[in-house]
Amino acid sequence: MFKKHGGTPVGTRLKTVALVQCILQVLIAVVIAFVYGRNPRGDFNTLYFLGILIVAAIEIFLTTLIFYCIGDAAENAWNAVSGLEEIKQMLKKVYGDKLNTQVSTGMIMCPKCGVFNDALRETCKVCGTKLKRTETESES
Ligand SMILES: [Zn+2]
Repeated sequence: MFKKHGGTPVGTRLKTVALVQCILQVLIAVVIAFVYGRNPRGDFNTLYFLGILIVAAIEIFLTTLIFYCIGDAAENAWNAVSGLEEIKQMLKKVYGDKLNTQVSTGMIMCPKCGVFNDALRETCKVCGTKLKRTETESES
């Protein structure tokens, strides 16, 4: 639903890396198992062969899981940031230059009577004084 900033998010790339390195490790593990799955006399040994594969499988599973989890977390963080960015852009479109940092606090204090006004108001709701945003902001 949210637009991306452009380019592939780091998290998605990490997930791809997780998958690619998983496949590569499986291939390497199979080769190693075939080469070293032998007893001291040099004969092929099923037990050694499977032993290497099982150790490799555990190692591959763990590294892939770690890569994938980091990728997933990064992806979620990316989406959250994209979402906030999107909301900010939407607010900017609706309120234009009226939007400023005061929106985050929600309120702006009238310099004359001290009444708190909605941050998007131009003038004080009680006395009608023009609300100065930047000056109020720098004071707080
Ligand atoms: Zn006022």
